[in-house]
Amino acid sequence: MSLRVLSGKSIINKLNPSFPVINSLKWRTQTSWKWHSEDVANIFWYTAIHVLAVCAPFMFNWGALRVAVGLSFLTGFGVTLGYHRLLCHRSFKIPKWLEYFFVYCGAHAFQKDPLFYVNTNKNHHKYSDTDRDPVNPTHGFWYCNMGLFCNNHHIAAKCGESKGGEYSKVPELKAQWFYTFLHDTYYWHPTALAALLYLHGGLCYLSWGMGMRGVVVHHFASLASYVSHIWWVAMLTLGEGWHNNHHAFPRSARHGLEWWQFDLTWELIKFLMLVGLARDVKLPTQAEKRRISVLGQQKQKKEK
Ligand SMILES: [Zn+2]
Ligand SMILES: [Zn+2]
Repeated sequence: MSLRVLSGKSIINKLNPSFPVINSLKWRTQTSWKWHSEDVANIFWYTAIHVLAVCAPFMFNWGALRVAVGLSFLTGFGVTLGYHRLLCHRSFKIPKWLEYFFVYCGAHAFQKDPLFYVNTNKNHHKYSDTDRDPVNPTHGFWYCNMGLFCNNHHIAAKCGESKGGEYSKVPELKAQWFYTFLHDTYYWHPTALAALLYLHGGLCYLSWGMGMRGVVVHHFASLASYVSHIWWVAMLTLGEGWHNNHHAFPRSARHGLEWWQFDLTWELIKFLMLVGLARDVKLPTQAEKRRISVLGQQKQKKEK
């Protein structure tokens, strides 16, 4: 199903380009302006969690706060450890049941289903710093936080996948029933969690557990690629903010490579190694680190 909306191209192009919101809306006018049912569902969810988050402070409850904090870590690690370091980069191996557990937690972080996320991240690494990059920070705050998730076909076209829903970079995930099931039933999972929270503690648990928690996790996860390389971003994004390191060594399970670069996801992977659950953990060698630093210095000299 697709809902056609009148083009706003001419209006937006006439408005003052220095206004940041208008600037970041421009990406929307670069391709045909179509809304698909998937995009509409995403906009519904993003609106719902923001409205609930605004209500949350007015119905404070310690139990609801504890649930929100617990769910923030679970769903946050679901994205950083499950979606990103495990599925996108295969930086380590864990038993299948644990992989599915982390990925299922990630499906509640409002970063869409694993097929979309992994496919988009692979395209991001392939096309980074070019116009085909699906997670292009030059498109602005609104694009990286919202637009990216609300125009599936735009992203597909940008990365050379003519029709949406092809997910050509992730055949190994498409071959697993669990991931196609999560893709096909994606919106039912946050709906079920919202119903559980409401039945357990009413509107208060719903506002904290879905609203506040959803907004925090979703925006911090998006922040990792938008504003990175800053220590506080790395702290808040469970270590994903060391984005320069990650682009230099995409397969490394550890993103914070220096002792002072705090990386909570790496601490969790170390714990999983300690208890014998994680193996084949990929880390850059000293020779690789030296080669990257020499390349970086040569690049800096050229730029001068
Ligand atoms: Zn990545
Ligand atoms: Zn990146």
